[in-house]
Amino acid sequence: MTYDVVIIGSGISGLYTSINLSEDLKVLVISKDELKINNSYLAQGGIAVVLDKDDNYEIHINDTLIAGEHTNNIKNLDILVKEGPIDVMKLVDIGVDFDRDEHGNLSKTLEGGHSKKRIVHHKDKTGKEVINTLLNYITNKENISTMDKTLVADINKENDLFGVVILRDEELKTIYCKSLVLATGGIGKIYKYTTNSKIATGDGIALAHNLGAAIKNISKIQFHPTALNLGSNERFLVSEAVRGEGAFLLNKNGNRFMLDYDERGELAPRNVVAKGIYDESIKLNSEEIYIDISHKDSEFIKNRFPNIYDNCLKYGLDITKDKIPVFPCEHYLMGGIDVNENSESSIENLYAVGECSHTGIHGNNRLASNSLLEGLVFARRAAQNINKQIKNDKSRIHNKETKVYKKGTISIDNNLRNKIQNIIQDSYFIVLDKEKSKKGIIEINNIITDLKSNDYIRDVDYYEIRNMAIISKLVLGEVLNCG
Ligand SMILES: Cc1cc2nc3c(=O)[nH]c(=O)nc-3n(C[C@H](O)[C@H](O)[C@H](O)COP(=O)(O)OP(=O)(O)OC[C@H]3O[C@@H](n4cnc5c(N)ncnc54)[C@H](O)[C@@H]3O)c2cc1C
Repeated sequence: MTYDVVIIGSGISGLYTSINLSEDLKVLVISKDELKINNSYLAQGGIAVVLDKDDNYEIHINDTLIAGEHTNNIKNLDILVKEGPIDVMKLVDIGVDFDRDEHGNLSKTLEGGHSKKRIVHHKDKTGKEVINTLLNYITNKENISTMDKTLVADINKENDLFGVVILRDEELKTIYCKSLVLATGGIGKIYKYTTNSKIATGDGIALAHNLGAAIKNISKIQFHPTALNLGSNERFLVSEAVRGEGAFLLNKNGNRFMLDYDERGELAPRNVVAKGIYDESIKLNSEEIYIDISHKDSEFIKNRFPNIYDNCLKYGLDITKDKIPVFPCEHYLMGGIDVNENSESSIENLYAVGECSHTGIHGNNRLASNSLLEGLVFARRAAQNINKQIKNDKSRIHNKETKVYKKGTISIDNNLRNKIQNIIQDSYFIVLDKEKSKKGIIEINNIITDLKSNDYIRDVDYYEIRNMAIISKLVLGEVLNCG
């Protein structure tokens, strides 16, 4: 099968790319799991955007620069902030039901690092609302088809076409396209503790790396300060917006402590709060840290945070009354496949959008709720660029045979996932442990060699473990080189 454009990923960036492509292009969106299983669907807090008269682009840019420690790509940041309102209003046009105030205007909330209330949201389920609306919207688009439960295993460049090797119904075959968009999301699952969806094994970045694309700042990883910590590997996010609405962080003695670490207290940027919690846990020799919003009106809490309320209740915790145990964990990747302002990677006609890309807008630390905005703005720009490129390309009708591949004989040991996760968690969580990282990279290299030299069955586990190992090697390699 041949398509004009194949998009790998059905999160916000993949779907938003698809709806901005010309309707005369034949487009395929692939998702390795169900279409709704992704980080976008999990997003709670909302989308940061300048819409009010008492806010302006310069303030949003400045807040982002402060959070990013002034290491951000200024040109792309300028594009993000100034073009963001167009894309957020397009979401409104296609039916995203953002919360509104009593006058019918979009409600905006505050989050850490923002000096204005500028986060538009749908209760605490913004991602679910956006993804449901986008999926609904594309069902009416005849030029866009979707393929779920289909893992992209490899990509090859064959002259002017990409060969996209897919694993579907236990069969490996190749489909072809002129332009390929990677929208594969983050890398959270290389960690033992992460807020990320199970799909976040860094596949797109590993595939791009294998193809020779430039990868940048892969070790710039954000740890979210407040994930529910009940001792298990499951880490449900307690959104930044909870602190935005006035929640306190408490240590094991029930005392607030963030003001000891930063004058902005609980509303300092994420890296500062995560490090504050980490330092407090070392000081008191205890990972017992709590978030507490019980001093706010209980009806307000239930209405504003129904998702967090329901989830905590499942574990017997009532956020209107109880303090909730939290601890930092992996949340977001600032680096990734290096792209320019049109989301073009270093390989011709290969694009990367959303969390797998590196536009440089976040710098060292992402400002809360700038990620969904990036997933919109730079996805649209990718689509616009493809529309232009393909229009000028006369050689766009192709006839290509599908190849079927041999699948191997040995089952992979799924415990390799845990092994990789333990190595990364111990080596590089908030602070770098150089000795463990050096040992870790040797172990990761051994895993990669083993994967190459044995005839493993090419199933989802094989490809995800391979990709996790490649990403882990890149992360530790970069972090050790950086000192
Ligand atoms: C719990 C949580 C809450 C968040 N809240 C917010 C928030 O409020 N505001 C904000 O701005 N950001 C938030 N973020 C971050 C933000 O949600 C993500 O960065 C963003 O949604 C990523 O979108 P994406 O389209 O790049 O990737 P995703 O939405 O993760 O989608 C990735 C897609 O790629 C597919 N895929 C991956 N590998 C393959 C493969 N090999 N073959 C086929 N398909 C593949 C997956 O199946 C999936 O469809 C949050 C993140 C989390 C985890």
